[in-house]
Amino acid sequence: MAKRDYYEVLGVNKNATDEELKKAYRKLAKKYHPDANPDNKKEAEAKFKEVNEAYETLSDPQKRRMYDQFGPDGPQGFGGSGGQGPFGQGGYYSYTSSGFNGFDDFGDLGDIFSSFFGGGFGGRSSSRRQNGPRKGADLNATIDITFEQSFSGVEKEIAITRNEECSTCHGTGAKPGTSVTKCTVCNGTGQVKQVQNTILGQMQTTRTCSACHGTGEIIKEPCPECSGRGKVRKQPRIKIKIPAGIDNEQTVVLRGEGEPGEKGGPKGDLYITVRIKKHSIFTRKGNNVLCDIPISITQATLGGEIEVPMVDGTKEKYKISEGTQTGTKFTIRNKGFKSINSNSTGDFIFTVIVQTPKRLSKEQRELLVQLAKTMNEQPPIKKRGIFG
Ligand SMILES: [Zn+2]
Ligand SMILES: [Zn+2]
Repeated sequence: MAKRDYYEVLGVNKNATDEELKKAYRKLAKKYHPDANPDNKKEAEAKFKEVNEAYETLSDPQKRRMYDQFGPDGPQGFGGSGGQGPFGQGGYYSYTSSGFNGFDDFGDLGDIFSSFFGGGFGGRSSSRRQNGPRKGADLNATIDITFEQSFSGVEKEIAITRNEECSTCHGTGAKPGTSVTKCTVCNGTGQVKQVQNTILGQMQTTRTCSACHGTGEIIKEPCPECSGRGKVRKQPRIKIKIPAGIDNEQTVVLRGEGEPGEKGGPKGDLYITVRIKKHSIFTRKGNNVLCDIPISITQATLGGEIEVPMVDGTKEKYKISEGTQTGTKFTIRNKGFKSINSNSTGDFIFTVIVQTPKRLSKEQRELLVQLAKTMNEQPPIKKRGIFG
């Protein structure tokens, strides 16, 4: 079944503010909460998940941008690399979309959830306490490129700071030759249960094991390189391929270039927001390139061929007709930006600006005076002209 549009799911328009999103979300989350729908629990649960997924994506500015840019599934196989690293370094390169990630990041909505769930339904909060594999954290970075680079695509290197697996102990944290042992206090679970007798009867509580700090493991002799962390801070330079047509504030995701995972979990991802420097003559609107081209008073009057500079550095000859007015727009088809998620290409649209000469030679001035004599001093103001 095709996914419904997230905005549609929440019943808001595309420009909805964070406040509007939150309001719509609260309303729907209450409406579809499974406990509030005992008669059709299954259906409500599906709706509830859908609402959560939509809000989870749209409430995060970065994820929302990605969603607006690529839709729910992301641009699959984008970049022609089909999931294979463009630089053959094993990491792979694609845009992501996010799925349902539980309720960890709901901020002040936490109160709703604690009352809704009582720890039972869904969410990642329960797995957080487990000692299993966990995905590493995602990292964010920004990169500045020129207008021309965004037009033609560019390969860049970016320096980031992240943890990497310690090569001395291979991430175990134990000094080479020694081993990591299971914590005997919690039997490797990282948690200890306590039973207390209270006036209300026996109460069982769970807390983090203080012997292993919740890791479930005891390192007797820590690795000297990483002091038992299993990770070391590194500042690798990462290669990034920015596709032609990328727009300002769009994001490139390098999968697996984030923080290392825990307990064999996958690495996090690196989100790189691309910022594009302003160009002195070109601007971008959608996938079109806009530009003002100055022409002389004689070119405008007599017509002729002009040269128009393209973003790729080439020049296009363009014929303008006799009597061209200042402010007239001309379009050169398919000379704009490549679309990042379809096969289309934008246009190059230029506006001619007639330059009134400021300094004339004596001879030129003479010619213009003669011209003026042959014309009415002032063009007549038409009835429905500027004062009409
Ligand atoms: Zn180490
Ligand atoms: Zn322990």
